[in-house]
Amino acid sequence: MSTPLVFHPSANIAALRESATIAVSQRAKALKAQGREVIDLGAGEPDFDTPAPIRQAAQAAIDAGATRYTATEGILPLREAIAAAANAAYQGPDRVTAADIVVSTGSKQSLYNACVVLFGPGDDVLVPTPSWTSYYEMVGLARANAIEVHGDPARGFKVDPERLARAATPRTTGVMLNSPSNPTGSVYAPDELRAILDLAAARGWWVISDEIYVRIAYDAPAPSALDVATHRDHLVVVNGVAKAYAMTGWRIGWTISPTPVAKAMNALQSHTTSNAAAVSQHAALAALTIGEPVEAAVRAMVAEFKRRRDAALPILRDAGLRVLDPAGAFYFYFEAPGAGTVPDAGGAFCAALLDEAGVAIVPGSAFRTPDWVRVSYAADQAQVVEACHRIARVARAMRA
Ligand code: GLU
Repeated sequence: MSTPLVFHPSANIAALRESATIAVSQRAKALKAQGREVIDLGAGEPDFDTPAPIRQAAQAAIDAGATRYTATEGILPLREAIAAAANAAYQGPDRVTAADIVVSTGSKQSLYNACVVLFGPGDDVLVPTPSWTSYYEMVGLARANAIEVHGDPARGFKVDPERLARAATPRTTGVMLNSPSNPTGSVYAPDELRAILDLAAARGWWVISDEIYVRIAYDAPAPSALDVATHRDHLVVVNGVAKAYAMTGWRIGWTISPTPVAKAMNALQSHTTSNAAAVSQHAALAALTIGEPVEAAVRAMVAEFKRRRDAALPILRDAGLRVLDPAGAFYFYFEAPGAGTVPDAGGAFCAALLDEAGVAIVPGSAFRTPDWVRVSYAADQAQVVEACHRIARVARAMRA
């Protein structure tokens, strides 16, 4: 009989936790495979097909030979298209060039690259909380400390310069921003964003602005940090095609940063994944450059997310649930029944909901707010509405 393997993880990952957003969806898939009827509102993934003109451009790119390595930082036309779009927003003197762009295997890799090259052992990085689960872990993988800066639920958990300044330490070197926000759906107004950039500039902090949901805003356009920044010498903007263009599986994200930071991220990436998939880069190029047919598809998808939001939100609110105003992205964030009275009320609610009503959602502990839960409404409207009725039913029963 062989001896069982004893695995002691390295110090690099000793504190690492698996992504809860991914784990919830995998659990839902496993239950479905066992024959259980489950509505999966776990991972935020648009349910639409990638728009046809993008798919056709990708097929043509394969036939034209986009099957080999590309430059590690990505193909030049894609980086030029990203730079041109950035310059349309950014009015500062240091124009964005293709040398400032690194294309990666999803904005997740872009964020990881940025964290690893900007932060290191002993650095404190301010993370407005709740935030997407992977920020905390990525900062930790860079061996820096993620400092949770809790926002005010009455303001959609948004943070302001006062809160950030109060949480800062002499070792603070950066702040993570995300607007529209995952998990809250909150959107920072231009002056709110500007005030945070001003504080960061005064303190010499790096700002990583994750803008993957910037095109998905319902009430007013969501500003990019590039719209309000007057210089970008400490700014790294992260974006990608996954959410707005329904291209999650293509895995294309990018950073817009000062050139030396781009060079460092490129060097890092040259030892990890090299270039993002060639065909996916051509698909992303098509998404950014085709124009009206693709833009029309994006508008239609955003309008559809809004319809789902408007159909489902009243169901949760009528059940007495405290739901934040979802102004952007495609998540409802609400306080779980039992919040403040039991530990991990969100986790308990999610477990009961899956067990009793076959609905998979993500516990707020993933976003460092264990009293809350997140529902993705990037799914078929009938399913979203049905799931919200089940959430309302389970919440009422738990309160009774
Ligand atoms: N970002 C999405 C989410 O929060 C997709 C899953 C993931 O990468 O975390 O659900």
